[in-house]
Amino acid sequence: MKITRVEIFDIHCPKRPVWTPVFVRIHTDEGITGVGEAGLAYDLGHSAAAHMIKEFAEEMLIGWDPFQTELLWSRMLRESFWGLGGGPVIYSAMSAIDTALWDIKGKALNLPVYLLLGGKHNDKLRTYASQLQFDWDKEVTKLFNPDDYGTATEKAIAEGYDAVKVDPIVYDKDGNTHFDRTKLFTRDEMNLFRARLQAMRDAGGENMDIIFECHSLPGATTAVQLGELVEEFNCLYYEEPVNYLNSKLHKKVSDRVNAPIAGGERLYNRWGVRPYLEEQSVDVLQPDIGLCGGFTETKKVCDYADIYDVRIQAHVCGGPVATAAALHLETAIPNFLIHEHHTYATKEWNRELCIEDLQPENGFFTVSDKPGLGIELNDDVVMKSTRLEVK
Ligand code: MG
Repeated sequence: MKITRVEIFDIHCPKRPVWTPVFVRIHTDEGITGVGEAGLAYDLGHSAAAHMIKEFAEEMLIGWDPFQTELLWSRMLRESFWGLGGGPVIYSAMSAIDTALWDIKGKALNLPVYLLLGGKHNDKLRTYASQLQFDWDKEVTKLFNPDDYGTATEKAIAEGYDAVKVDPIVYDKDGNTHFDRTKLFTRDEMNLFRARLQAMRDAGGENMDIIFECHSLPGATTAVQLGELVEEFNCLYYEEPVNYLNSKLHKKVSDRVNAPIAGGERLYNRWGVRPYLEEQSVDVLQPDIGLCGGFTETKKVCDYADIYDVRIQAHVCGGPVATAAALHLETAIPNFLIHEHHTYATKEWNRELCIEDLQPENGFFTVSDKPGLGIELNDDVVMKSTRLEVK
């Protein structure tokens, strides 16, 4: 089998201007196609990833056997020159391509990808409702009033979830967004965050799990300060309390806060996660299959984490192809913890991008048994966006 054509979709959703998933569809001479997604669906970098995929396709994909995933991954890493330096643009492109190649392998062998990764270790995947500061409803609404955090929690609970995630610090009392939370918090600010969490706890009860998300906004000192709330509300874990530019920051927070620390959505491949595993400063690793290196690399990263007893929650904040990829990996690995269902994954402008609509039932997901990933792009929608093509 040979790769004959590569399409790259740099999606623009008119109803949600900052939502920009990047998909790749790889064609073969046997008529089998595979889809993949680069993990840059939000904020900046998506068109760079789309063009990076195009360059890889031109240099390394056309005429290549799609089953040779290890060799191709190594070539992209080493022969691109920049792959040995790092960064989300090159790794998201490698990830999208690798994911699509595994989709092709599964379809050619008539097997779902999870079976190629080792089989069904986990039958039902416990799932949490993610990012409740944006509400949990048909529209994305930024919440800043504590009572609204309670109402959003009630909506998630009504759908059957028993775990939710929230970033209680990104908005101030007036709804202004803060990208820098490295300054010490005032007692008023701490009380505002506490009131939001208390409203959620009151709505969801003592048995509901709360994941405390920080989006790497705090500095080490404010992360320790917020740890007081993480402990007070018995949060399931404390996500991205600090940035990844200095791994010692995670070590400081994990030493000072008595709660499991989560992170990894901005780490790439085995080399990227190494200091966090060796310093044992992360308890829950959150690799994004669309950034970490596709199935080829993310499976290795999960196994590497397992020797440190680190549990896995794949980071999922993308289009439906990202969800499909996460479900296959999480079904197969022994150290799976919980699946992330982002509020964006419930929105019409995201769901319409693929034919299959992947939604959990009563707080649990099950993986598709169709060959490959079991998901196809909805051409009626994706063809309206920018499309690059290599033959
Ligand atoms: Mg996160």
